[in-house]
Amino acid sequence: MSEVISFVDTVIVYDNFPAVAGATFSVASGEIVLLQGPNGAGKTTLLRACAGLLPIARGKATVLGVDLKSDRATVRSQVGMLGHSNGLYQDLTVAENIGFWSRLVGAGNDDIAQAMRLMGLSERLSEVKVSNLSAGQRRRCALATLIVRRARLWLLDEPHAGLDADGRDELDKTLRSARDAGATVVFASHEIERAKALATRSFKVEGGVVGEA
Ligand code: ADP
Repeated sequence: MSEVISFVDTVIVYDNFPAVAGATFSVASGEIVLLQGPNGAGKTTLLRACAGLLPIARGKATVLGVDLKSDRATVRSQVGMLGHSNGLYQDLTVAENIGFWSRLVGAGNDDIAQAMRLMGLSERLSEVKVSNLSAGQRRRCALATLIVRRARLWLLDEPHAGLDADGRDELDKTLRSARDAGATVVFASHEIERAKALATRSFKVEGGVVGEA
């Protein structure tokens, strides 16, 4: 299995504060890795850094074989990141939001319909503006945009939050399928029981340091 993420003594700072204070860990292709840890531990910072959204202050960091210190743009284009905000265009419909991403990767209408089905979004919702969706439907829509992107690395910050029981099950099924199709998943969650059943490995994050759980 090839290495998808490799951090060695990696430091990430906000202003002068080291939110990640020398993280050393690696993730191999096909893993589903859970980041556990209390609020403020550094989980979101790690996920955002892996997505190429934050500069690396010190140490080494590569994602999908690309050096984050020299080329974050390439990493940004290759990973699928779901943060606390859904990253959707509120004034566009569900189909338009998913279609935006599908076109970028050459996927078609069938792929949009399949992504909606996988995330339990009924066909009726395809023409509804995101601003008119419920919070859970928005989360499902954001996850559907990740499905059509077919990213090699999925980075998910508390993906179960805001979903109902069916939505959480559909998400877990989707992540397992993505992994079966060759993707790697790293996610942060406070739903420890569900998350542990899904993960193939767990890391404990505390005070900006990463350790085996
Ligand atoms: P977690 O996701 O584990 O709850 P975060 O990665 O969000 O933790 O935060 C790690 C630390 O970095 C916290 O102390 C937090 O206050 C700080 N932090 C996060 N984002 C910022 C920011 N934009 N500016 C300054 N400090 C931040």
